[in-house]
Amino acid sequence: PEAITVQELANRMAEKGADLVKALFNMGMMVTVNQTIDQDTAELLVEEFGHNIERVSSSDVDINVDSDVDAPETLKPRAPVVTIMGHVDHGKTSLLDALRGTDVVRGEAGGITQHMGAYQIKTKGGDKITFLDTPGHAAFTQMRMRGANVTDIVILVVAADDGIMPQTIEAINHTKAAGVPMIVAINKCDKEEANAQKVRERLLEHEVIVEAMSGDVQDVEVSAKTGKGLDELIEKLLLQAEFMELKANPDRNAVGTVIEAKLDKGKGPVATVLVNRGTLKRGDIFVVGTESGRVRAMNDDKGKQVKEAGPSMPIEVLGLGGVPMAGDVLTVVESEQRAREVSSWRQEQATAKRTATAPASLDTMFSALK
Ligand code: GDP
Ligand code: MG
Repeated sequence: PEAITVQELANRMAEKGADLVKALFNMGMMVTVNQTIDQDTAELLVEEFGHNIERVSSSDVDINVDSDVDAPETLKPRAPVVTIMGHVDHGKTSLLDALRGTDVVRGEAGGITQHMGAYQIKTKGGDKITFLDTPGHAAFTQMRMRGANVTDIVILVVAADDGIMPQTIEAINHTKAAGVPMIVAINKCDKEEANAQKVRERLLEHEVIVEAMSGDVQDVEVSAKTGKGLDELIEKLLLQAEFMELKANPDRNAVGTVIEAKLDKGKGPVATVLVNRGTLKRGDIFVVGTESGRVRAMNDDKGKQVKEAGPSMPIEVLGLGGVPMAGDVLTVVESEQRAREVSSWRQEQATAKRTATAPASLDTMFSALK
């Protein structure tokens, strides 16, 4: 339900804020002009003042990407999006770096990388895999709380010399809560103290049953240091992805998710966006969270300018009106007017939410009297 401040409602009705406060008082509500009232109360007030009600709701103004489903025949295979989780110092960053090193395209280009929050590799076999370079359970959970489920597969990193630790268990729980399949990478297998079998056994206690223990979770012994097992890890990722039949429609206006965003001194607001469906093109007009913008330029994870980006591709987007939040959805719209309409509506909603103190609805008031 939409909320509105008393003053805002007064403005819309061309009435005095104080008169509305008075009317609310007569209705039994002690509210100041800056407080928020709910939609039902607002409607009562509007009627009280003899105006016509024109209920404008989110569905009239806002974009609902969930209801905008792509027809099955428009779907084409897309690369899996992978997040690496695990206990601190078990080798998440090392593994991300090692996997990045297997990229055949980067090998050709000479290996200059800019940090971007996500990168995509092309395997020897020509398949693509996108890795989210935001290890840290907070990022994963925060994104999920904001409704952004961008991860298809989780790699759970467990150091073979250290075993199951508190953040390993946390990662298992997050992954299960998200309903995302996991692949266990038993890392640091180059070390003498490494005991991969013990890791497999201890995982049983947390209901992660790997194939070697007659379960269905894939596991791989790796070493981010020596590169051992990386090819096998990639193979298993691709196998898992194939099984999931990940698809998206590339031939439509883009919908993407902000992985991270910042204000760059030279470039202005910059966001790393993962395209979920459609193709994002230079010049596209979009809304992202409460901000709007037009794609001025796009860079891939190798710092190369690109004109367009399809599903599962992470890109750095320039041309935003402000800095969005991680987890915000970017949606391409048909016109600047539409972009402004949606972003200002969302800003209004956000402001109303912030200023809402005690949302005194008639319903709650009556139930309190009973
Ligand atoms: P994170 O905290 O999970 O990101 O872990 P890091 O990637 O920062 O690694 C923590 C430490 O473990 C660093 O000193 C790495 O060099 C080391 N490390 C990571 N992977 C391996 C590995 O496969 N073998 C060995 N011997 N050391 C590793
Ligand atoms: Mg790290």
